[in-house]
Amino acid sequence: MRFISTRGESSAVGFTDAVLGGLAPDGGLYVPEAWPTFSREKIASFAGMPYAQVAAEVLGAFAGDEISPADMRAMCEEAYATFSHKAVVPMVQIGPQTFIAELFHGPSLAFKDVAMQILARLYDHLLGRQGRQQTILCATSGDTGGAAVEAFRGAKNVKVVVMFPEGRISEVQRRFMTTAEESNIACVAVNGTFDDCQAILKDAFQDKVLRQSVDLAAVNSINFARIAAQSVYFFTTAAALGAPDRAINFVVPSGNFGDAFAGYVAMRMGLPVRRIVVATNSNDILARAFTTGRYSRGAVLPTLSPAMDIQSASNFERLYFEAVHREPVETARAFEAFRTTGLIDIPPGALTAMQATFTGVAIGEDETLRTIVSTLSETGELIDPHTAVAVAALRHVPLEGVAVVMSTAHAAKFPEDVSRASGVEPGLPRGVANLAARPEKFDRLPGDADTIKAYVRAFAEG
Ligand SMILES: *Cc1c(COP(=O)(O)O)cnc(C)c1O
Repeated sequence: MRFISTRGESSAVGFTDAVLGGLAPDGGLYVPEAWPTFSREKIASFAGMPYAQVAAEVLGAFAGDEISPADMRAMCEEAYATFSHKAVVPMVQIGPQTFIAELFHGPSLAFKDVAMQILARLYDHLLGRQGRQQTILCATSGDTGGAAVEAFRGAKNVKVVVMFPEGRISEVQRRFMTTAEESNIACVAVNGTFDDCQAILKDAFQDKVLRQSVDLAAVNSINFARIAAQSVYFFTTAAALGAPDRAINFVVPSGNFGDAFAGYVAMRMGLPVRRIVVATNSNDILARAFTTGRYSRGAVLPTLSPAMDIQSASNFERLYFEAVHREPVETARAFEAFRTTGLIDIPPGALTAMQATFTGVAIGEDETLRTIVSTLSETGELIDPHTAVAVAALRHVPLEGVAVVMSTAHAAKFPEDVSRASGVEPGLPRGVANLAARPEKFDRLPGDADTIKAYVRAFAEG
């Protein structure tokens, strides 16, 4: 399988280079040259199949002959054995036609684990084959850092440095990063804000000498392997509910549009999908785009669902590329303009194509809190604020047939807000209950790029 850039200026690459490269050299995002498809019989066979086996089938369709089926299967088995629920992504029913898919049974209790666990194994495998070592540098405002640490701890060919803004993330979030004992993980509490951490990250990636000497890499959600890994649970949940004989609706709490786009990928691979509802908080760039046809950046507001406090959804470029009939010149024009103007007017034909599958809905803070309360009293399920955004969105969109709501975080990851809303204190699940007792290991550094770059070099070379 070959991968092309949405901006058309980079040459096509194989799966290995698309995964290890992340962003294409021309600034575009990698997409498969052609979407692989599954037959109806194949999709039906996913019902009741172990999750890791479906994952190996889906990822194998993209990896082609670059990874043997036996190696892919072994990596998927290992990745999903870290989940505390045997089904990996189990569902609970909360209404006559409504199900919640619990994506949070991974080691850091957020849906980022689903993709990061397999991504780490792919990295280690592909780098090992090339005799190469990489250093992953990551700036986190919460969930991504924990998922990355949990996934890459103990990796042989990858070292990870995670920066977080000191005192500005929750204790649970910090402890998921700082309690890893493995020597390939380093955590840095930066004296500054998340924006400072991101500026340092950018500076490090622009430093060619550092970049080459430590083979610097990023694991953000533009990596196509993360999208492919996320499309797996669209297949497993839909097959369990009667696909391909029944078309399913999905409701997805969205920020960078990786998760919702993964549903689109499953659809392009043959899964009958009726509608994908893109639920945002008041950072509503996606909701506005699908409603009005104008994709325009607004100010980022802090909300109860911080993982979705984003006003520029990187993966939207992939959908745009499809909606303009894979026209790279138009895609490059639109997204290069967006970088400076913060605005794209989606051409009418492309908007119609998007609206055939996607509906956008934005949910405010009060409604998010009310939805936590009403879901608990009506169904007995305690949901986190990100999931609540999606459950609330469902009430605004009339859907025909069965709907699956993607639940992206465990309520215990946001204990203060959840207990303030519901009066119930969410407990940490069994496997991580001793989180508060584990010793922490991290360094404190000033929010200064040169200091942190020197730290990264010393850690990578040490
Ligand atoms: C990252 C994240 C999201 C948003 O997912 P995108 O793929 O960026 O749209 C939603 N909920 C939680 C808890 C997350 O960590």
